[in-house]
Amino acid sequence: MSYAIDLFIDGKRVAGEGETEFVCRNPATGAEIGKFREASPAQIEESIASATRAQKVWAAMPAEERGRILRKAAQLLRARNDELARIEVEDTGKPIGEALAVDIQTGADAIEHYANLAGSLAGEYQDFGYGFYYTRREPIGVCAGIGAWNYPLQIACWKSAPALAAGNAMIFKPSELTPINAVHLAEIYIEAGMPPGVFNVLQGERNPGAALAAHPAVEKVSLTGSAPTGRKVMEAASPRLKEVSLELGGKSPLIIFEDADPEHAARLAMYANFLTQGEICANGTRVFIHSSIYDAVLDEIVKRTKSLKVGSPADPETQIGSLISMDHLGVVNGFVDRAREAGANVVCGGHRAEVPGHEHGAFYAPTVIADCTDDMEHVREEIFGPVMSVLKFETEDEVITRANQSDYGLAGGVVTKDLTRAHRIAANVQTGMFWINTYQAQPMQIPFGGYKQSGIGRENGWDVLDAYTQKKSVFVQMKPEELPF
Ligand code: NAD
Repeated sequence: MSYAIDLFIDGKRVAGEGETEFVCRNPATGAEIGKFREASPAQIEESIASATRAQKVWAAMPAEERGRILRKAAQLLRARNDELARIEVEDTGKPIGEALAVDIQTGADAIEHYANLAGSLAGEYQDFGYGFYYTRREPIGVCAGIGAWNYPLQIACWKSAPALAAGNAMIFKPSELTPINAVHLAEIYIEAGMPPGVFNVLQGERNPGAALAAHPAVEKVSLTGSAPTGRKVMEAASPRLKEVSLELGGKSPLIIFEDADPEHAARLAMYANFLTQGEICANGTRVFIHSSIYDAVLDEIVKRTKSLKVGSPADPETQIGSLISMDHLGVVNGFVDRAREAGANVVCGGHRAEVPGHEHGAFYAPTVIADCTDDMEHVREEIFGPVMSVLKFETEDEVITRANQSDYGLAGGVVTKDLTRAHRIAANVQTGMFWINTYQAQPMQIPFGGYKQSGIGRENGWDVLDAYTQKKSVFVQMKPEELPF
């Protein structure tokens, strides 16, 4: 299938006019599924001018009306779930079972959630007798959203929903690897009644992202991507001291105590590592297992991992789809090769996987690496593929210290029947998200974001509405006052 991959400016699709041309490929087959040129500098300016005009109209609309339009957009998105999920599968290589159940639905969840909260954004009031003050929650203005390739539509929804509910406009730039569905979201917003220009889409790689981050008329930039890109975006935004929200990478610990059921713990470790073939920022890629059940849990993990179905992303039975590209497969395999050289034990996987009929696909066998030590490269660095590192521990204090020995601090989890201990671990592990006896659960009400190098700010929850509004305090004098001048 070949897709038209356009920009979306002021309510219309337009072809990119920039210098660089990109070819979009289905990573599971290597087949070309579309071509596009990045946004030119003039188109970037045009998108900002259009968003600046539209934001004023949108912010002046009653918040309940903005909420109604967003609710309608969520309904339209759900109605197109299957079609958009299939596009997401061609664009990313992820299994259709996941895309149908997760990607579009959780995007619509976000839009619905912030649609419902739009009318509840309120300020504070306090009377001092001689006067009173109140606060206004005002939108920030034109915001930029820059997305990663692992959940293209979901990220576009998670960024735009709270921004738009609060009365901002957003210019969204999807990853150059997964450019298709952001424009469908833009069309859905228009169909739902949103004024043209409130949500624009620019295509391309570094150039439009960096231009938006630096532009004086863009008041805030929210990035989902890697830590190195986070640093560049923050640097580009810093001369204007603009607000930056960064959702970056992770190397999250999952801690399995001796009282865990080995089968449940093994299945949870796999869920924490192999969902979306490991291409999830919050994945629990450092699995710490208590020495007394280490062998039992590892055996179960290996047995079950060997039976995972790696296959065509279009097959509903597939559990492990294709990585995003052959380049990324090379990166993942490089980490595994160096893990072997460092003395770790690759107990299953550790190689490219063959999928009949998909000879050019970027499939990688789900991989478990045992006998790891904390200093090994694959234990310290984010791999972003189906690679689980397994480590042994003896005591609670020891495992907390080791879990925290990471530059990242995105997420973590614990498996234990001792709930006092579970809460103690949750309190002491330095991550922005923590799961007890589960993993990956992420309803919209929960603020999500990272400690340390995993980011700045939060997505979802009330926190993100705070981040997309600025508070103005208004003081009113009610009694005559003695002025010193
Ligand atoms: P990336 O950092 O390479 O790219 C992210 C986005 O930034 C892309 O749209 C890219 O085109 C753009 N970009 C690149 N250089 C830029 C620049 N100088 N200025 C502005 N924009 C620029 O990341 P990726 O490879 O697309 O995604 C994988 C990374 O994303 C992983 O590290 C993963 O952990 C992270 N991620 C984090 C979360 C989260 O919520 N914390 C969610 C998904 C992915």
